[in-house]
Amino acid sequence: MTDRPLRIEAITFDLDDTLWDNHGVMVATETGHYAWLDDELADWLRLRGRMPRQRFAERFPLESFEQRRRALARAHPLHRGDFTWLRERALREMLGEYGLDPAAAEQWAGATMERFMALRHRVAPHPEVEPLLTSLGERYRLASITNGNVEIERLSLGRHFPVAIAAGAMLAPKPDARPFLAALARLATAPARALHVGDSWREDVEPARRLGMQVAWISPHVDHTPMPPGVHRLDHVRELPELLTRLTGRPH
Ligand SMILES: [Mg+2]
Repeated sequence: MTDRPLRIEAITFDLDDTLWDNHGVMVATETGHYAWLDDELADWLRLRGRMPRQRFAERFPLESFEQRRRALARAHPLHRGDFTWLRERALREMLGEYGLDPAAAEQWAGATMERFMALRHRVAPHPEVEPLLTSLGERYRLASITNGNVEIERLSLGRHFPVAIAAGAMLAPKPDARPFLAALARLATAPARALHVGDSWREDVEPARRLGMQVAWISPHVDHTPMPPGVHRLDHVRELPELLTRLTGRPH
């Protein structure tokens, strides 16, 4: 509860686990695109009369793909948050070691990433999100700020966000302040007049709070620890209008 009503002009949103549950779609994407590569590559090699001793996914199980990405992130710290780059690079390396020439490895890595991105965008936003963004968009300037590789423009929800920041691709993943500052600059809003909505304490709450933004922390785990000033815990993004009513003193 705030005594003095706040003037809020803009709202920035994290995406994964804020506007939708991300776990199911990530699991389906991870296993789905890798199985696609394994099947399609086996067919392609067979048609060329090449029968490797092991299939690709036998030689490089899914865990080794993950290890490869972690090693690449350590070797290229600037790219550590650019998951698309790390994935494509890891695939190219493994396909090369599997015996593909560099051009074929690049082509297969690219095709696999297309498959990955198609599956990755099969997210199911919470049903309340569409009407929520429609009504908030009438009163506030909205932006998305994600570390993940969902391109919000590819979803119908994208039309609600005139500003969309891909923090990993700009090589400054949250908690870096730069994606927040970029969003605020493009929304022409001072931090004190903006609210950030996100589920991660480290990547959303802390950096937004340090900049002086208000923060709605989406956390279904009831926690009776008092929140620092400016931080408001919500069970679900659907509770945002009530919070905005409390903060601004105007009904939502
Ligand atoms: Mg999140």
